[in-house]
Amino acid sequence: NNLTLGIIKPDAVRQGKIGLILQRIIDRGFNIRAMKLIRMTREEAEGFYAVHRERPFFGELTAFMSSGPCVVMVLEKEDAVRAWRDLMGATDPAKAAEGTIRKEFGSSVGENAVHGSDSDENAAIEIAYFFSRLEMV
Ligand code: ATP
Ligand code: MG
Repeated sequence: NNLTLGIIKPDAVRQGKIGLILQRIIDRGFNIRAMKLIRMTREEAEGFYAVHRERPFFGELTAFMSSGPCVVMVLEKEDAVRAWRDLMGATDPAKAAEGTIRKEFGSSVGENAVHGSDSDENAAIEIAYFFSRLEMV
């Protein structure tokens, strides 16, 4: 599959990094098929992260993701899920490889600048959570 869902999280938006992160995405050869700035309610963040419902950090994660605006986008590239996760880097910015977005822009395992789908199946679910067919170019 060639599509994945990416999010520029509220920490990176607050720090004024939207432009720099989008430039990285474009330079890596992704085609942006849809994009918008949204602020999720707590309930919308809980719905998005429903798979993590039982994890100990669920409350912290959904509070953070609803704490300010995010940029949500549909990214297209060959092997998109893996390609975007490669560019993001490891979940914990301290463990992320040099040159990755989380290494450069993340501050902690919670506030780690970006999200990416973890499988083609979840990419389809996550894209449909935020975008209708009419919002895709
Ligand atoms: P994402 O799903 O955001 O792309 P990921 O797939 O690398 O990140 P997951 O295990 O799916 O990581 O966790 C989802 C998100 O939950 C992480 O991006 C991070 O913001 C948060 N998170 C993960 N582990 C912790 C933790 N131990 N403490 C606080 N927040 C965490
Ligand atoms: Mg994940």
